[in-house]
Amino acid sequence: MSKPSENDPSSPLNRREQTFPRLDTEMAGRIAAYGQEEHVPHGTILFQRGQRRVDYFFILDGCIEIYDHAEDGSPRIFNVHGPSQFTGEVDLFSERQAMVNGRTGADTHLVRIDPAGFRKMVSAEPDIGEIIMRAFILRRVGLIQTGQGGVTLAGSAHAADTVRLRSFLIRNGYPYRLLDTDVDDDARHLIDGFGLDPSECPVVILPDRRVLRCPSTGALADELGITIELDGTHVYDVAVIGAGPAGLAAAVYAASEGLDTLVLEALAPGGQAGTSSKIENYLGFPTGISGQALAGRAQVQAMKFGAHMAIARSVERMDCSSHPYRLHLDDDSVVSARSVVIATGARYRKLVQVDYERFEGQGIHYAATAMEATLCAGEEVVVVGGGNSAGQAAVFLARTVAHVHILVRGDG
Ligand SMILES: Cc1cc2nc3c(=O)[nH]c(=O)nc-3n(C[C@H](O)[C@H](O)[C@H](O)COP(=O)(O)OP(=O)(O)OC[C@H]3O[C@@H](n4cnc5c(N)ncnc54)[C@H](O)[C@@H]3O)c2cc1C
Repeated sequence: MSKPSENDPSSPLNRREQTFPRLDTEMAGRIAAYGQEEHVPHGTILFQRGQRRVDYFFILDGCIEIYDHAEDGSPRIFNVHGPSQFTGEVDLFSERQAMVNGRTGADTHLVRIDPAGFRKMVSAEPDIGEIIMRAFILRRVGLIQTGQGGVTLAGSAHAADTVRLRSFLIRNGYPYRLLDTDVDDDARHLIDGFGLDPSECPVVILPDRRVLRCPSTGALADELGITIELDGTHVYDVAVIGAGPAGLAAAVYAASEGLDTLVLEALAPGGQAGTSSKIENYLGFPTGISGQALAGRAQVQAMKFGAHMAIARSVERMDCSSHPYRLHLDDDSVVSARSVVIATGARYRKLVQVDYERFEGQGIHYAATAMEATLCAGEEVVVVGGGNSAGQAAVFLARTVAHVHILVRGDG
Protein backbone atom coordinates (compact mmCIF):
# COMPACT_ATOMS: atom_id res chain seq x y z
CA MET A 1 0.00 0.00 0.00
CA SER A 2 1.60 3.30 -1.05
CA LYS A 3 0.65 6.78 0.08
CA PRO A 4 -1.02 8.89 -2.64
CA SER A 5 1.24 11.78 -3.60
CA GLU A 6 0.17 15.30 -4.54
CA ASN A 7 2.58 15.20 -7.49
CA ASP A 8 1.66 11.75 -8.77
CA PRO A 9 -0.27 12.25 -12.06
CA SER A 10 -1.59 8.68 -11.89
CA SER A 11 -3.10 9.19 -8.42
CA PRO A 12 -6.92 9.14 -8.54
CA LEU A 13 -6.86 11.99 -6.01
CA ASN A 14 -5.31 14.19 -8.68
CA ARG A 15 -7.72 13.01 -11.39
CA ARG A 16 -11.07 13.38 -9.65
CA GLU A 17 -12.95 14.41 -12.83
CA GLN A 18 -11.86 11.15 -14.47
CA THR A 19 -12.31 9.00 -11.36
CA PHE A 20 -15.79 10.34 -10.57
CA PRO A 21 -16.98 11.82 -13.90
CA ARG A 22 -20.34 13.46 -14.48
CA LEU A 23 -22.01 12.41 -17.74
CA ASP A 24 -24.12 14.81 -19.80
CA THR A 25 -27.88 14.42 -20.37
CA GLU A 26 -27.43 12.93 -23.83
CA MET A 27 -25.25 10.13 -22.38
CA ALA A 28 -27.64 9.70 -19.43
CA GLY A 29 -30.46 9.10 -21.93
CA ARG A 30 -28.49 6.39 -23.70
CA ILE A 31 -27.55 4.72 -20.38
CA ALA A 32 -31.20 4.67 -19.25
CA ALA A 33 -32.11 2.53 -22.28
CA TYR A 34 -30.13 -0.44 -20.82
CA GLY A 35 -31.85 -0.56 -17.42
CA GLN A 36 -34.86 0.65 -15.53
CA GLU A 37 -35.52 3.85 -13.61
CA GLU A 38 -36.32 3.52 -9.90
CA HIS A 39 -37.20 5.87 -7.04
CA VAL A 40 -35.32 4.50 -4.01
CA PRO A 41 -35.91 5.77 -0.45
CA HIS A 42 -33.09 7.24 1.67
CA GLY A 43 -30.98 4.61 3.48
CA THR A 44 -31.69 1.68 1.12
CA ILE A 45 -28.74 -0.71 0.77
CA LEU A 46 -28.04 -1.22 -2.94
CA PHE A 47 -25.09 -3.61 -2.69
CA GLN A 48 -22.91 -5.09 0.04
CA ARG A 49 -19.39 -6.34 0.48
CA GLY A 50 -19.20 -10.01 -0.46
CA GLN A 51 -22.01 -9.83 -3.01
CA ARG A 52 -21.30 -11.12 -6.52
CA ARG A 53 -22.81 -9.78 -9.77
CA VAL A 54 -23.57 -6.32 -8.41
CA ASP A 55 -25.80 -3.98 -10.46
CA TYR A 56 -24.57 -0.69 -11.97
CA PHE A 57 -26.36 2.47 -10.77
CA PHE A 58 -26.53 5.80 -12.60
CA ILE A 59 -27.86 8.65 -10.46
CA LEU A 60 -30.45 11.04 -11.92
CA ASP A 61 -31.23 12.81 -8.65
CA GLY A 62 -30.18 12.23 -5.02
CA CYS A 63 -26.97 10.42 -4.03
CA ILE A 64 -25.34 7.06 -3.25
CA GLU A 65 -22.87 6.66 -0.38
CA ILE A 66 -19.97 4.22 -0.74
CA TYR A 67 -18.67 2.91 2.57
CA ASP A 68 -16.78 0.23 4.44
CA HIS A 69 -16.84 -0.41 8.19
CA ALA A 70 -14.61 1.01 10.91
CA GLU A 71 -13.08 -1.28 13.51
CA ASP A 72 -16.07 -0.69 15.86
CA GLY A 73 -18.44 -1.80 13.07
CA SER A 74 -19.80 1.66 12.25
CA PRO A 75 -20.14 2.62 8.55
CA ARG A 76 -17.25 4.74 7.21
CA ILE A 77 -18.38 6.69 4.13
CA PHE A 78 -15.50 7.49 1.78
CA ASN A 79 -17.32 8.53 -1.40
CA VAL A 80 -20.65 10.08 -2.28
CA HIS A 81 -21.84 9.86 -5.90
CA GLY A 82 -24.24 12.63 -6.89
CA PRO A 83 -26.47 13.40 -9.91
CA SER A 84 -25.00 12.36 -13.31
CA GLN A 85 -22.43 10.11 -11.58
CA PHE A 86 -22.34 6.31 -11.36
CA THR A 87 -21.30 3.48 -9.03
CA GLY A 88 -18.85 0.65 -9.62
CA GLU A 89 -15.22 -0.34 -10.03
CA VAL A 90 -13.42 -3.05 -12.00
CA ASP A 91 -15.18 -5.90 -10.21
CA LEU A 92 -18.34 -5.00 -12.14
CA PHE A 93 -16.69 -6.61 -15.15
CA SER A 94 -16.15 -9.85 -13.26
CA GLU A 95 -18.01 -12.19 -10.96
CA ARG A 96 -15.73 -11.29 -8.04
CA GLN A 97 -17.24 -10.31 -4.71
CA ALA A 98 -17.77 -6.57 -4.14
CA MET A 99 -15.30 -5.03 -1.67
CA VAL A 100 -17.45 -2.09 -0.56
CA ASN A 101 -21.06 -1.28 0.32
CA GLY A 102 -23.42 1.21 -1.31
CA ARG A 103 -26.63 2.82 -0.02
CA THR A 104 -28.77 5.80 -0.93
CA GLY A 105 -27.79 8.93 1.01
CA ALA A 106 -31.13 10.62 0.19
CA ASP A 107 -34.36 9.75 -1.61
CA THR A 108 -32.79 8.91 -4.96
CA HIS A 109 -33.96 8.66 -8.56
CA LEU A 110 -31.62 6.29 -10.39
CA VAL A 111 -31.14 3.93 -13.32
CA ARG A 112 -30.39 0.33 -12.32
CA ILE A 113 -28.63 -1.88 -14.89
CA ASP A 114 -28.03 -5.59 -14.24
CA PRO A 115 -24.62 -7.17 -15.11
CA ALA A 116 -25.77 -8.47 -18.53
CA GLY A 117 -27.24 -5.08 -19.48
CA PHE A 118 -24.12 -3.33 -18.20
CA ARG A 119 -21.84 -5.47 -20.37
CA LYS A 120 -24.07 -4.81 -23.38
CA MET A 121 -24.05 -1.06 -22.71
CA VAL A 122 -20.25 -0.86 -22.38
CA SER A 123 -19.68 -2.55 -25.74
CA ALA A 124 -22.56 -0.89 -27.62
CA GLU A 125 -21.74 2.64 -26.36
CA PRO A 126 -17.94 2.80 -26.71
CA ASP A 127 -17.59 6.50 -25.76
CA ILE A 128 -19.43 5.88 -22.48
CA GLY A 129 -17.61 2.56 -22.02
CA GLU A 130 -14.25 4.33 -22.25
CA ILE A 131 -15.21 6.85 -19.54
CA ILE A 132 -16.49 4.07 -17.29
CA MET A 133 -13.44 1.85 -17.85
CA ARG A 134 -11.02 4.68 -17.01
CA ALA A 135 -13.02 5.62 -13.90
CA PHE A 136 -13.17 2.00 -12.70
CA ILE A 137 -9.40 1.47 -13.08
CA LEU A 138 -8.67 4.74 -11.23
CA ARG A 139 -11.12 3.83 -8.47
CA ARG A 140 -9.36 0.50 -7.92
CA VAL A 141 -5.98 2.28 -7.82
CA GLY A 142 -7.51 4.60 -5.19
CA LEU A 143 -8.74 1.66 -3.09
CA ILE A 144 -5.29 0.06 -3.25
CA GLN A 145 -3.56 3.32 -2.28
CA THR A 146 -5.83 3.97 0.69
CA GLY A 147 -6.52 0.35 1.70
CA GLN A 148 -10.27 1.13 1.73
CA GLY A 149 -12.46 -1.94 1.45
CA GLY A 150 -9.43 -4.13 2.07
CA VAL A 151 -8.06 -6.51 4.70
CA THR A 152 -5.41 -6.21 7.41
CA LEU A 153 -2.35 -8.44 7.18
CA ALA A 154 -0.51 -8.74 10.50
CA GLY A 155 2.82 -10.52 10.91
CA SER A 156 6.56 -10.09 10.58
CA ALA A 157 7.13 -8.32 7.24
CA HIS A 158 10.18 -10.54 6.64
CA ALA A 159 8.52 -13.90 7.35
CA ALA A 160 8.06 -16.11 4.29
CA ASP A 161 4.30 -16.54 4.81
CA THR A 162 3.77 -12.79 5.23
CA VAL A 163 5.73 -12.20 2.01
CA ARG A 164 3.64 -14.89 0.27
CA LEU A 165 0.29 -13.41 1.37
CA ARG A 166 1.37 -9.82 0.77
CA SER A 167 2.63 -10.63 -2.69
CA PHE A 168 -0.63 -12.45 -3.45
CA LEU A 169 -2.71 -9.41 -2.39
CA ILE A 170 -0.51 -6.96 -4.31
CA ARG A 171 -0.42 -8.99 -7.49
CA ASN A 172 -4.18 -9.47 -7.42
CA GLY A 173 -4.73 -5.73 -6.88
CA TYR A 174 -6.49 -6.31 -3.55
CA PRO A 175 -6.38 -3.42 -1.02
CA TYR A 176 -4.65 -4.28 2.25
CA ARG A 177 -2.94 -2.73 5.25
CA LEU A 178 0.25 -4.35 6.58
CA LEU A 179 0.91 -4.29 10.32
CA ASP A 180 4.49 -5.43 10.89
CA THR A 181 4.70 -7.16 14.27
CA ASP A 182 8.51 -6.66 14.30
CA VAL A 183 8.33 -2.88 14.46
CA ASP A 184 4.74 -1.75 14.90
CA ASP A 185 3.26 -1.39 18.40
CA ASP A 186 -0.24 -1.17 16.88
CA ALA A 187 0.30 -4.61 15.34
CA ARG A 188 1.26 -6.13 18.67
CA HIS A 189 -1.76 -4.54 20.38
CA LEU A 190 -4.01 -5.84 17.61
CA ILE A 191 -2.66 -9.38 18.01
CA ASP A 192 -3.25 -9.16 21.79
CA GLY A 193 -6.71 -7.65 21.25
CA PHE A 194 -7.76 -10.60 19.11
CA GLY A 195 -6.36 -13.04 21.69
CA LEU A 196 -3.89 -14.43 19.16
CA ASP A 197 -0.56 -16.06 19.84
CA PRO A 198 2.32 -14.49 17.82
CA SER A 199 3.15 -18.01 16.56
CA GLU A 200 -0.20 -17.98 14.69
CA CYS A 201 0.96 -15.06 12.53
CA PRO A 202 0.71 -13.98 9.84
CA VAL A 203 -3.02 -13.52 10.12
CA VAL A 204 -5.45 -11.88 7.73
CA ILE A 205 -8.19 -9.90 9.48
CA LEU A 206 -11.33 -9.45 7.41
CA PRO A 207 -13.58 -6.37 7.64
CA ASP A 208 -16.15 -8.40 9.63
CA ARG A 209 -13.35 -9.11 12.17
CA ARG A 210 -12.99 -12.78 11.28
CA VAL A 211 -9.38 -13.95 11.46
CA LEU A 212 -7.67 -16.26 8.95
CA ARG A 213 -4.57 -17.82 10.50
CA CYS A 214 -1.79 -18.17 7.93
CA PRO A 215 -4.22 -19.15 5.14
CA SER A 216 -3.15 -20.83 1.92
CA THR A 217 -3.41 -18.52 -1.10
CA GLY A 218 -6.30 -20.65 -2.40
CA ALA A 219 -8.20 -20.29 0.89
CA LEU A 220 -7.58 -16.53 0.91
CA ALA A 221 -8.75 -16.20 -2.71
CA ASP A 222 -11.94 -18.09 -1.83
CA GLU A 223 -12.57 -16.01 1.29
CA LEU A 224 -12.08 -12.72 -0.57
CA GLY A 225 -14.13 -13.86 -3.55
CA ILE A 226 -11.23 -13.13 -5.92
CA THR A 227 -11.95 -16.25 -7.90
CA ILE A 228 -15.15 -17.27 -9.66
CA GLU A 229 -17.26 -20.20 -8.50
CA LEU A 230 -16.63 -23.00 -10.98
CA ASP A 231 -19.52 -25.08 -12.30
CA GLY A 232 -18.35 -28.64 -12.97
CA THR A 233 -21.25 -29.29 -15.36
CA HIS A 234 -20.51 -26.33 -17.64
CA VAL A 235 -18.52 -26.85 -20.86
CA TYR A 236 -16.40 -23.83 -21.90
CA ASP A 237 -15.43 -23.21 -25.51
CA VAL A 238 -11.85 -22.39 -24.44
CA ALA A 239 -9.90 -22.95 -21.22
CA VAL A 240 -6.67 -20.97 -20.97
CA ILE A 241 -4.15 -22.31 -18.44
CA GLY A 242 -1.99 -19.49 -17.09
CA ALA A 243 -2.68 -15.74 -16.98
CA GLY A 244 0.71 -14.35 -17.94
CA PRO A 245 0.86 -12.05 -20.99
CA ALA A 246 0.35 -15.02 -23.34
CA GLY A 247 -2.67 -16.41 -21.47
CA LEU A 248 -4.29 -13.00 -21.06
CA ALA A 249 -3.78 -12.21 -24.75
CA ALA A 250 -5.37 -15.56 -25.67
CA ALA A 251 -8.29 -14.78 -23.33
CA VAL A 252 -8.85 -11.30 -24.83
CA TYR A 253 -8.90 -12.64 -28.40
CA ALA A 254 -11.02 -15.71 -27.59
CA ALA A 255 -13.59 -13.76 -25.55
CA SER A 256 -13.72 -10.87 -28.04
CA GLU A 257 -14.62 -13.42 -30.74
CA GLY A 258 -17.59 -14.45 -28.62
CA LEU A 259 -16.12 -17.70 -27.29
CA ASP A 260 -17.08 -18.79 -23.77
CA THR A 261 -13.63 -18.46 -22.16
CA LEU A 262 -12.23 -19.55 -18.81
CA VAL A 263 -8.77 -18.56 -17.55
CA LEU A 264 -7.19 -20.71 -14.84
CA GLU A 265 -4.30 -19.07 -12.98
CA ALA A 266 -2.29 -20.62 -10.15
CA LEU A 267 -1.26 -17.36 -8.47
CA ALA A 268 -2.16 -13.99 -9.98
CA PRO A 269 -2.66 -12.45 -13.42
CA GLY A 270 0.52 -11.11 -15.02
CA GLY A 271 2.85 -14.08 -14.65
CA GLN A 272 6.53 -13.14 -14.83
CA ALA A 273 5.67 -9.83 -16.46
CA GLY A 274 3.67 -8.91 -13.34
CA THR A 275 6.95 -8.66 -11.41
CA SER A 276 8.64 -6.27 -13.84
CA SER A 277 9.05 -2.66 -12.66
CA LYS A 278 8.89 -1.39 -16.24
CA ILE A 279 8.35 -3.04 -19.62
CA GLU A 280 9.64 -0.83 -22.41
CA ASN A 281 9.13 -3.06 -25.45
CA TYR A 282 5.42 -3.91 -25.26
CA LEU A 283 3.58 -2.82 -28.38
CA GLY A 284 1.47 0.30 -27.87
CA PHE A 285 3.18 1.68 -24.75
CA PRO A 286 5.89 4.03 -26.06
CA THR A 287 6.78 5.35 -22.59
CA GLY A 288 6.78 1.87 -21.02
CA ILE A 289 4.41 0.41 -18.45
CA SER A 290 4.88 -1.49 -15.19
CA GLY A 291 4.19 -5.21 -15.42
CA GLN A 292 1.53 -4.92 -12.73
CA ALA A 293 -0.33 -2.17 -14.62
CA LEU A 294 -0.08 -4.11 -17.88
CA ALA A 295 -1.47 -7.23 -16.22
CA GLY A 296 -4.28 -5.28 -14.55
CA ARG A 297 -5.34 -3.68 -17.83
CA ALA A 298 -5.16 -6.95 -19.75
CA GLN A 299 -7.24 -8.69 -17.10
CA VAL A 300 -9.95 -6.00 -17.18
CA GLN A 301 -9.90 -6.11 -20.99
CA ALA A 302 -10.42 -9.89 -20.99
CA MET A 303 -13.22 -9.61 -18.41
CA LYS A 304 -14.85 -6.80 -20.39
CA PHE A 305 -15.27 -9.24 -23.26
CA GLY A 306 -16.74 -11.80 -20.86
CA ALA A 307 -13.75 -14.03 -20.00
CA HIS A 308 -14.10 -15.75 -16.61
CA MET A 309 -11.11 -15.71 -14.23
CA ALA A 310 -10.39 -18.54 -11.80
CA ILE A 311 -7.53 -17.27 -9.63
CA ALA A 312 -5.38 -19.36 -7.27
CA ARG A 313 -6.53 -22.43 -9.18
CA SER A 314 -3.74 -24.63 -10.50
CA VAL A 315 -4.32 -27.25 -13.20
CA GLU A 316 -2.80 -30.50 -11.94
CA ARG A 317 -3.52 -32.69 -14.96
CA MET A 318 -5.55 -32.91 -18.16
CA ASP A 319 -7.66 -35.77 -19.38
CA CYS A 320 -7.63 -35.67 -23.19
CA SER A 321 -8.96 -39.20 -23.69
CA SER A 322 -12.44 -37.87 -24.46
CA HIS A 323 -13.97 -34.68 -25.78
CA PRO A 324 -14.64 -32.15 -24.25
CA TYR A 325 -11.31 -32.25 -22.42
CA ARG A 326 -11.34 -32.43 -18.64
CA LEU A 327 -8.99 -30.35 -16.50
CA HIS A 328 -8.33 -31.51 -12.93
CA LEU A 329 -7.55 -28.68 -10.51
CA ASP A 330 -5.61 -28.61 -7.24
CA ASP A 331 -8.82 -28.21 -5.19
CA ASP A 332 -10.09 -31.52 -6.66
CA SER A 333 -12.62 -29.78 -8.91
CA VAL A 334 -12.86 -30.59 -12.62
CA VAL A 335 -13.70 -28.26 -15.51
CA SER A 336 -14.51 -29.15 -19.11
CA ALA A 337 -13.57 -27.32 -22.29
CA ARG A 338 -13.77 -27.98 -26.02
CA SER A 339 -10.29 -26.52 -26.55
CA VAL A 340 -7.38 -25.72 -24.24
CA VAL A 341 -4.60 -23.13 -24.55
CA ILE A 342 -1.59 -23.96 -22.39
CA ALA A 343 0.24 -20.73 -21.46
CA THR A 344 2.03 -21.83 -18.30
CA GLY A 345 5.25 -19.92 -19.04
CA ALA A 346 8.44 -20.60 -17.15
CA ARG A 347 9.32 -22.16 -13.83
CA TYR A 348 12.29 -20.66 -11.96
CA ARG A 349 15.49 -22.69 -11.83
CA LYS A 350 16.79 -22.87 -8.29
CA LEU A 351 20.35 -22.59 -7.02
CA VAL A 352 21.94 -25.63 -5.46
CA GLN A 353 22.64 -24.36 -1.95
CA VAL A 354 22.37 -25.92 1.47
CA ASP A 355 19.17 -24.84 3.27
CA TYR A 356 17.97 -23.00 0.16
CA GLU A 357 14.26 -23.74 0.75
CA ARG A 358 14.45 -22.39 4.30
CA PHE A 359 15.29 -18.92 2.99
CA GLU A 360 12.87 -18.79 0.07
CA GLY A 361 10.55 -15.85 0.68
CA GLN A 362 12.70 -14.65 3.58
CA GLY A 363 15.93 -13.51 2.01
CA ILE A 364 15.72 -15.29 -1.34
CA HIS A 365 13.22 -13.70 -3.73
CA TYR A 366 12.37 -14.28 -7.38
CA ALA A 367 11.39 -10.72 -8.19
CA ALA A 368 12.49 -7.16 -7.53
CA THR A 369 9.22 -5.29 -7.12
CA ALA A 370 8.48 -2.44 -4.72
CA MET A 371 7.76 -5.02 -2.01
CA GLU A 372 11.19 -6.70 -2.26
CA ALA A 373 12.85 -3.26 -2.51
CA THR A 374 11.21 -2.29 0.80
CA LEU A 375 12.16 -5.58 2.45
CA CYS A 376 15.81 -5.15 1.40
CA ALA A 377 16.04 -1.41 2.18
CA GLY A 378 19.46 -0.42 3.53
CA GLU A 379 20.88 -3.95 3.07
CA GLU A 380 23.49 -5.43 0.76
CA VAL A 381 21.78 -7.39 -2.02
CA VAL A 382 23.05 -9.98 -4.48
CA VAL A 383 21.33 -10.27 -7.87
CA VAL A 384 22.05 -13.65 -9.45
CA GLY A 385 22.11 -13.59 -13.25
CA GLY A 386 23.23 -11.23 -15.96
CA GLY A 387 20.29 -10.90 -18.34
CA ASN A 388 17.92 -7.98 -18.93
CA SER A 389 15.81 -8.74 -15.87
CA ALA A 390 18.91 -8.82 -13.63
CA GLY A 391 20.04 -5.43 -14.94
CA GLN A 392 16.57 -3.97 -14.44
CA ALA A 393 16.39 -5.42 -10.92
CA ALA A 394 19.83 -4.02 -10.03
CA VAL A 395 18.91 -0.51 -11.18
CA PHE A 396 15.55 -0.65 -9.40
CA LEU A 397 16.95 -2.00 -6.11
CA ALA A 398 19.86 0.49 -6.14
CA ARG A 399 17.36 3.21 -5.17
CA THR A 400 16.69 1.68 -1.75
CA VAL A 401 19.42 -0.82 -0.84
CA ALA A 402 22.94 -0.11 0.48
CA HIS A 403 24.78 -1.96 -2.29
CA VAL A 404 23.89 -4.26 -5.20
CA HIS A 405 26.30 -7.06 -6.15
CA ILE A 406 25.65 -8.82 -9.47
CA LEU A 407 26.79 -12.43 -9.81
CA VAL A 408 27.13 -13.66 -13.41
CA ARG A 409 28.51 -17.11 -14.15
CA GLY A 410 29.77 -16.21 -17.67
CA ASP A 411 32.18 -13.54 -18.91
CA GLY A 412 29.65 -11.38 -20.76
C1 LIG B 1 11.55 -9.21 -13.73
C2 LIG B 1 11.19 -9.50 -15.17
C3 LIG B 1 11.22 -8.46 -16.09
C4 LIG B 1 10.89 -8.70 -17.43
N1 LIG B 1 10.92 -7.66 -18.30
C5 LIG B 1 10.62 -7.88 -19.60
C6 LIG B 1 10.63 -6.80 -20.54
O1 LIG B 1 10.90 -5.65 -20.19
N2 LIG B 1 10.33 -7.10 -21.83
C7 LIG B 1 10.02 -8.37 -22.24
O2 LIG B 1 9.75 -8.56 -23.42
N3 LIG B 1 10.00 -9.39 -21.38
C8 LIG B 1 10.29 -9.18 -20.08
N4 LIG B 1 10.29 -10.24 -19.20
C9 LIG B 1 9.94 -11.57 -19.70
C10 LIG B 1 8.42 -11.71 -19.82
O3 LIG B 1 7.84 -11.31 -18.59
C11 LIG B 1 8.05 -13.14 -20.14
O4 LIG B 1 8.62 -13.47 -21.39
C12 LIG B 1 6.54 -13.29 -20.21
O5 LIG B 1 5.96 -13.01 -18.96
C13 LIG B 1 6.16 -14.72 -20.62
O6 LIG B 1 4.75 -14.74 -20.67
P1 LIG B 1 3.91 -16.09 -20.57
O7 LIG B 1 2.48 -15.69 -20.47
O8 LIG B 1 4.33 -17.01 -21.65
O9 LIG B 1 4.38 -16.81 -19.22
P2 LIG B 1 4.46 -16.32 -17.71
O10 LIG B 1 4.60 -14.86 -17.62
O11 LIG B 1 5.50 -17.18 -17.07
O12 LIG B 1 3.03 -16.71 -17.11
C14 LIG B 1 2.64 -18.06 -16.91
C15 LIG B 1 1.49 -18.08 -15.91
O13 LIG B 1 0.97 -19.40 -15.84
C16 LIG B 1 0.66 -19.72 -14.49
N5 LIG B 1 0.70 -21.17 -14.36
C17 LIG B 1 1.78 -21.99 -14.50
N6 LIG B 1 1.41 -23.28 -14.35
C18 LIG B 1 0.06 -23.27 -14.11
C19 LIG B 1 -0.90 -24.30 -13.87
N7 LIG B 1 -0.54 -25.59 -13.85
N8 LIG B 1 -2.19 -23.93 -13.65
C20 LIG B 1 -2.56 -22.63 -13.67
N9 LIG B 1 -1.68 -21.62 -13.90
C21 LIG B 1 -0.39 -21.94 -14.12
C22 LIG B 1 1.76 -19.02 -13.70
O14 LIG B 1 1.35 -18.79 -12.35
C23 LIG B 1 1.92 -17.72 -14.49
O15 LIG B 1 1.09 -16.68 -14.00
C24 LIG B 1 10.58 -10.02 -17.86
C25 LIG B 1 10.54 -11.06 -16.91
C26 LIG B 1 10.83 -10.81 -15.59
C27 LIG B 1 10.77 -11.94 -14.59
